Amino acid sequence: MVLDVTTLRVALGVVTLSLLILFCFSFRRTRSPYNGWWCVALLLFLLGNIAFLFKGTEQQIWATPLGNVLSVGGALSMWAAARSLRMLPPPKWQFAAGPAITALASVLDNPASNSWSGGLVYLGLMTGSMALASRDLWLMESASFKTQKSVAWATGLLAAYYFCRWTAFAVQGPDGPVFGLYFGQSMATLVTLVLLLAVSFGMTTLSNDRLISGLSERAARDHLTGLLNRGSFMDLAAEDLRRMHAAHSVTSLILADLDHFKAINDEHGHPAGDASLQAFASACTASVRSTDLLGRYGGEEFIILLPGASRENAETIATEISENLASTGSRQGIPVPTVSYGVTSSSAPAPELTAMIAAADTALYKAKSLGRNRVVSADSRS
Ligand code: GH3
Ligand code: MG
Ligand code: MG
Repeated sequence: MVLDVTTLRVALGVVTLSLLILFCFSFRRTRSPYNGWWCVALLLFLLGNIAFLFKGTEQQIWATPLGNVLSVGGALSMWAAARSLRMLPPPKWQFAAGPAITALASVLDNPASNSWSGGLVYLGLMTGSMALASRDLWLMESASFKTQKSVAWATGLLAAYYFCRWTAFAVQGPDGPVFGLYFGQSMATLVTLVLLLAVSFGMTTLSNDRLISGLSERAARDHLTGLLNRGSFMDLAAEDLRRMHAAHSVTSLILADLDHFKAINDEHGHPAGDASLQAFASACTASVRSTDLLGRYGGEEFIILLPGASRENAETIATEISENLASTGSRQGIPVPTVSYGVTSSSAPAPELTAMIAAADTALYKAKSLGRNRVVSADSRS
């Protein structure tokens, strides 16, 4: 089978253009950095491919160096896209150095007569950028483990193919039999076509997963304090309570209500009230373990689930939160209220979250009626 270079390049161009149009539409909707970088990568690959069509003509004096530079820029953008999936910033000096070195090597290598001018540097930088993209895809955290590893493999294969091209080029030059058969323009175009499609769709799946998990994370949290909102707290807490009960471990629950909070709003204004709600959330975060659950239950009411903590532990934690809040208030010069707490623990044979909340609420009510600014415990009778 004879693979005609020009036809293959035109096919690759058409596929790249179609992908570019699809990804640009998708970027207009998502505005995700991955999507943006992938558009840049596709555009540079497309333009590079168009420039390579002039190889073997009189125009190759500028077309080969330009094609090399654009393709290296495309591979670097592919790396930037992979980094964005890890929430890392794009590479900086590499973006300046890579294309500049490629341009220099290509221009100094007789581009008028040599259709592979600067080939060694071009293939080396393509290999390096793709290998780095593959590494970042391998290291990213993703819910879709299989897709992530497949995309990392596909990008790694592309890097490996370019590495083989680079080696064959270095050993035999562009006219060598191995390079001509396996790593010349026809085969490289075909391999690039297939892997470009695989990487495009794989990376899109990963990016969508990232967007969805970002959105559900935002939907689960209270905007002002960053703590869990009531709904997600209830779901997660019921699950934790079940798990701890099955492991015969105790779980404690704290309901906290800021004292005379309305007075803070009235005296200092709503923004000051917001700041003290945020200070309380920070005091909670500083006092509990990462495995505990913190939620905003209502306006100035908060709820905390402490898996594995006894009622005495929970009382100590509540006292510590108030101490943290008071010291934050004096350090930052913001008005902070005192806090009343109702505490309960899962002492019943089959603890129910709603029953524990009701018990903590009764204890909280008692704390208020006893004069506020205190911790009161109750037995959960669920
Ligand atoms: P108590 O000690 O009995 O709990 O008195 P309180 O003033 O704290 O309770 P009350 O229920 O009378 O008032 C709660 C106040 O919390 C009223 C409401 O405006 C305020 N509040 C609720 N959510 C927010 C919020 O997001 N920001 C601010 N600044 N205030 C809020
Ligand atoms: Mg209240
Ligand atoms: Mg209150």
